[in-house]
Amino acid sequence: MSDCIFCRIAAGEIPARLAAEDPEFVAFRDLNPQAPVHVLLIPRRHVATVNDLAAADAPLLGRIWTRIPLLAAELGIADHGYRVVVNCLAPAGQSVFHLHFHLLGGRAMGWPPG
Ligand code: 5GP
Ligand code: ZN
Repeated sequence: MSDCIFCRIAAGEIPARLAAEDPEFVAFRDLNPQAPVHVLLIPRRHVATVNDLAAADAPLLGRIWTRIPLLAAELGIADHGYRVVVNCLAPAGQSVFHLHFHLLGGRAMGWPPG
């Protein structure tokens, strides 16, 4: 989708500080980091929200979730604890409507989240 910021980052049309990429995913540093390490992991394929996921996406989601601990290790936060956040729709804090997994680490995290 040409009007989607994250599709454009995945296509290399908008610059981003890449943390990792492969044919299926891109990981890049958040522009407005909320922790010392704040990376967004996105599928290259445009999926707007968690609500748009279907049963056929289960393999993709499995690959995302098994990629996350590898990415955390690459970022040096795997052994210190980290948080994975997915906001779904604006009331929950979603501002970019391309599915993304926030990977946050490098500081202690409070609970409940805001
Ligand atoms: P959301 O609020 O949708 O859960 O998260 C969107 C995230 O994308 C925010 O943390 C925001 O800082 C980040 N973001 C928005 N636009 C850009 C951009 O152009 N580049 C990068 N690297 N991050 C962005
Ligand atoms: Zn998109």
